[in-house]
Amino acid sequence: MSSFRAAAKIDDCMAEKKSTWTVVLRCYDCKRRFSGAGVPMNGIALIPQAAPCAHCAAKSVIVSGRHFGAAGKLHQILDLRKDRA
Ligand SMILES: [Zn+2]
Repeated sequence: MSSFRAAAKIDDCMAEKKSTWTVVLRCYDCKRRFSGAGVPMNGIALIPQAAPCAHCAAKSVIVSGRHFGAAGKLHQILDLRKDRA
């Protein structure tokens, strides 16, 4: 992953204020995929923490500010798709 490219994409998107994204997530618990549409760029980073699983309703658990601990109780982002240009 390149942080430089990610930063450039964020700049792009801030110019296009109406752009929203469909985020495809994989549940940390049941491992099934689910997605949420209409996510603004500045909300993408929060989606894995905020969205409950569409299949088993598992919610991510953040312990002591550690997002990527061994417990791995955080949904994984599998894909991002722009909803509109
Ligand atoms: Zn689940």
